[in-house]
Amino acid sequence: MAAVPSIERAAHGVTSSAVLDFLKRPKNLLIGGKWVPAKSGKQFETINPANEEVLALVPEGDKADVDEAVKIARQAYEEGPWSRIGPHQRARYLLKIADLLEQHADELAILETLNNGMAISLARGMASGAADTFRYYAGWATKIYGETNPSDPSMFNYTLREPVGVCGQIIPWNGPIAMLAWKIAPALACGNVSILKPAEQTPLTALRIGELLQEVDLPPGVVNIITGFGETAGAAIAAHPDIDKVAFTGSTEVGKLILQASTGNLKRVSLELGGKSPNVIFPDADLENAIPTSLFGFCMLSGQVCCAGTRVFVQSDFHDRFVEHLTRYASNVKAGDPLDASTTVGPLVSREQFNRVKGYLDIGKKEGAKPALGGEARTGKGFFVDPTIFTDVRNNMQIAREEIFGPVASVIPFKDENDAVLQGNDTTYGLAAAVWTQDISRAHRIARALKAGTVWINCYNNIDPISPFGGYKQSGIGRELGKHSIELYTQIKSVYAKL
Ligand code: ADP
Repeated sequence: MAAVPSIERAAHGVTSSAVLDFLKRPKNLLIGGKWVPAKSGKQFETINPANEEVLALVPEGDKADVDEAVKIARQAYEEGPWSRIGPHQRARYLLKIADLLEQHADELAILETLNNGMAISLARGMASGAADTFRYYAGWATKIYGETNPSDPSMFNYTLREPVGVCGQIIPWNGPIAMLAWKIAPALACGNVSILKPAEQTPLTALRIGELLQEVDLPPGVVNIITGFGETAGAAIAAHPDIDKVAFTGSTEVGKLILQASTGNLKRVSLELGGKSPNVIFPDADLENAIPTSLFGFCMLSGQVCCAGTRVFVQSDFHDRFVEHLTRYASNVKAGDPLDASTTVGPLVSREQFNRVKGYLDIGKKEGAKPALGGEARTGKGFFVDPTIFTDVRNNMQIAREEIFGPVASVIPFKDENDAVLQGNDTTYGLAAAVWTQDISRAHRIARALKAGTVWINCYNNIDPISPFGGYKQSGIGRELGKHSIELYTQIKSVYAKL
């Protein structure tokens, strides 16, 4: 186990005592309102990617624990007090959770940064954003309406919008607090119960939020948290015959496995997957915004974001000037201590991710791309890669087609509007896109033409629970956030009555 002083050292004095206390406490699974060890007794180490030191030991839940959680969640859903709780009370629970997340935002942000490596400023935003998400869905709990339909005079027909039931929710390591909120808040608002599995790389904030959930006295079994690995605990959730719905955020590769595993009981599936988003820049763009925001577009969370703007398309006659500006601006941004409030780019989350990004830097150079900036991974402790900007990239190169998940952008020239759209859409993904121009008609034409679930005009990475998020093509199935999550977490019953 890690010696606590090393955590304090790593935190440069900003670690709160609440975080240190949490790290020292033994970690267990949350099943049926109780903290229990994994049935196998196994645990695994979770680390700080900034210095590779062990932060804590976490239970390695697997199929046996998932089975137990499903049994208890099913009881809570069918027979427990949750099944008799009305929408106002559900809203009150969600509001209390939001308040607690806000009160503990600083502590949660530090914990997230220690475990994930994301810049503390970003982690703070994610923690307060999670509170907003819970509040937003608290509002929905009392507004989930059915319809009365214009039936024949001898009949009365109406619809009920009912919860789906037991929901398996598998989240990734790149925004654990936010992803937990996107999953649990709408599920509970609609009256479902949840079995949440955080990613093996970043289990800590979910466990801490599990403790906070206990403080609001949610009925036992309504939220269960199973830490463990994807191939075991995750796969058991995806295949479980008594889970009614699975919501997954992660890689396209695993999304396909989840979809296959779901066919056993035809559980409902929503998938938010990878991306290779085009960020299209015209010469009339407001560079003062376009440069820092485009950098943020591919460097936020060290580029480990499914909607990262990693293909930067720039009109040919403006290409060299843009690259010069972007490179100059980016050269002042270095990967560094994520707990330092001025850091933009922290470490990558794991050794595996570091090796993957390093591999793509080599592939890019072999393919003939030229690093205008960066291009090398760092040596030494921690998984740091400085921002990298590749030029001389063609859209058919591997680095322009595959998701790198590091702070790496490919700048690709385009001839005209049509060419920008053709190249932008020439990808198997369709999660997000952006366009920078002061020509308002062109901006909206391009927003329509790009095949992506979200398009940003003169901005990047804006995400708000009021608006749907999800992907075209292989970037996913379904939309989360906004009223769309209500659709994911409810099912419709049509009732006919003979008058
Ligand atoms: P990434 O490639 O970004 O690491 P993954 O798609 O591998 O993301 O992981 C996202 C989440 O999916 C994690 O919680 C992980 O444990 C889980 N997972 C990985 N493999 C499987 C699987 N075969 N079945 C179910 N869940 C899985």
